[in-house]
Amino acid sequence: MARILVVEDNALNIKLFCDLLAAHGHETEAVLDSREALPAARAFKPDLVITDIQLPHITGIELMEMIRKDEELKAVPIMAVTAYAGVGDDERIRAAGAQAYVSKPISVVRFAETVELLLAGKSQEVAPAHG
Ligand code: MN
Repeated sequence: MARILVVEDNALNIKLFCDLLAAHGHETEAVLDSREALPAARAFKPDLVITDIQLPHITGIELMEMIRKDEELKAVPIMAVTAYAGVGDDERIRAAGAQAYVSKPISVVRFAETVELLLAGKSQEVAPAHG
């Protein structure tokens, strides 16, 4: 059982991700508004952060950079979720601090596998296939 913070502006995706994580025995906290993500993370003390990249207000890239600069949170693994990963995005997402990313629409199996990989302290070595 791990504590997982989910930052995502789409309520249907929040439900999908949280139901999936709960089915794997994890405790989740969901944040719809990325401006609340950093304080929520400080309060919840997650073992893993899952963040959408395309977010209004504070983007997923900005949020990851903020987490990596935060004394309390900088070591927490981050999994990014993105609707579009083009050329150079993989590098950009990793440079901002993600250990892994999965493409939307998500593959339920890949999503769950990547979560367990990061909770085990590993990084995703190969970028997921696009689409
Ligand atoms: Mn979004």
